[in-house]
Amino acid sequence: MADFQNELKAMTPPSDTGNGCRVFIETYGCQMNAYDSQAINGLLENDGFEAAPNIYDADVVLLNTCSIRELAEHKITSRVGEIRRQRRNADLPPVNIGICGCMAERLGNELHKGVNRVDLVVGVDSYDKLPALLADLTKSSPTKHRKLTATGHRNDAHYVAPPSLYPVNNSHLVTIHKGCDYKCTYCIVPYTRGPQSEKSPEAIEAEIRSLVDSGAQEVTLLGQNVTAYNWQKNLDFAALLERVSDIDGLERIRFLTGHPKDMHPHTMDAIGSLEKVCPWLHLPIQSGSNAILKRMKRLYKREEYLDMVDYARKAIPGATFSTDIIVGFPGETEEDFQATLEILRLVKYDQIFSFKYSERPGVPAAKLADNVSLDEKKRRLAGILSLQEEIWNTEATRQVGETWTGIVETAARQKGFWRVRTANNRKFLVADDHQKIGDEVSAVITGFNNTTFLTVE
Ligand code: SF4
Repeated sequence: MADFQNELKAMTPPSDTGNGCRVFIETYGCQMNAYDSQAINGLLENDGFEAAPNIYDADVVLLNTCSIRELAEHKITSRVGEIRRQRRNADLPPVNIGICGCMAERLGNELHKGVNRVDLVVGVDSYDKLPALLADLTKSSPTKHRKLTATGHRNDAHYVAPPSLYPVNNSHLVTIHKGCDYKCTYCIVPYTRGPQSEKSPEAIEAEIRSLVDSGAQEVTLLGQNVTAYNWQKNLDFAALLERVSDIDGLERIRFLTGHPKDMHPHTMDAIGSLEKVCPWLHLPIQSGSNAILKRMKRLYKREEYLDMVDYARKAIPGATFSTDIIVGFPGETEEDFQATLEILRLVKYDQIFSFKYSERPGVPAAKLADNVSLDEKKRRLAGILSLQEEIWNTEATRQVGETWTGIVETAARQKGFWRVRTANNRKFLVADDHQKIGDEVSAVITGFNNTTFLTVE
């Protein structure tokens, strides 16, 4: 398999294709997109384009998009119209607009039609074509509608974000694989991001070494299903964690997102025994009912999930858990829903991300009758959130009086405070005492506000 990433420099020596053209990238969706936007910025800068600070100073606006829910796509379509309006209201000339990412891959040429049509559509595996496409696009006036499209999946399209670009909350994102080989029936990702394809361990190590050389202390290994990483069926996620842990100067390793089916005992043993690997597991359960899990094609049963959590608690000191939940999946009965509530009571997650089921055209679940009414979905969602709040309040109260240590990751929204993150992903605020991002601080927990802990009376 060609390794585009290793060859990136050789394939694309610096050029002035961009000729100073200013490009603003607006990013939607998950951290994979945040990483991709950084990589696109790097590719464009290498080719003589400049990063614009906002839509008003840009010659081209790229929207890096998400297709996970219908609402996300609607927002982006209206954002195209809004950008054009905002420019008009500011007495600025029309601007070229392109759509990148999952929505580009899913809708392709459809995005060249309609009132909010765009001139450029570039899917997740075609970012290396962006410099040439943008150079072509900017030759013509933005008022002349163009229909430039580059989509389709390629195994070799792995990208690297330059190390100088922004870490997210003091953690540098590093994509270790792209795509997904599973076919959860509600999920659009295998269609928008294609099959799973790994970056080589050497390429991942080189990327992290260059981040560390630029001052990084922490990385977040990213992928749709990082726990399924298996380079040439010979080096799995546990082995990758071991290799990354050996990188001198790197202090912490986080990872997102794992599929419960691939969270094997030896993977949890590695997480528990490698000092640099943070003990926080985001493991989407989606539903607590075996009947619904089967209909979702999640490939595990609730009992297996709970066994895995039990194992993790023993193997990984201080482990915390978070999850994703869908309520109102087609056919979900009250009994199924109660089974999901029971999982919350048993696992006691730090955080849950819960959603009402909404149909995505083209995925297998779209063929199932969406027979849970919207009102019922809303009721179940409210039920999930309220139970989680109750569980969390009890769990969080138990933490008061403990002394925690964490790393300053960003200025808090509350003026005069820093937000600190512990290795197991809990956040607490400390009063500003001349700390800086990346400093290690310890404090006694005095209370909490939602999921953020406080350290002053
Ligand atoms: S594991 Fe399932 S939910 Fe996750 S990306 Fe793959 S298909 Fe989607």
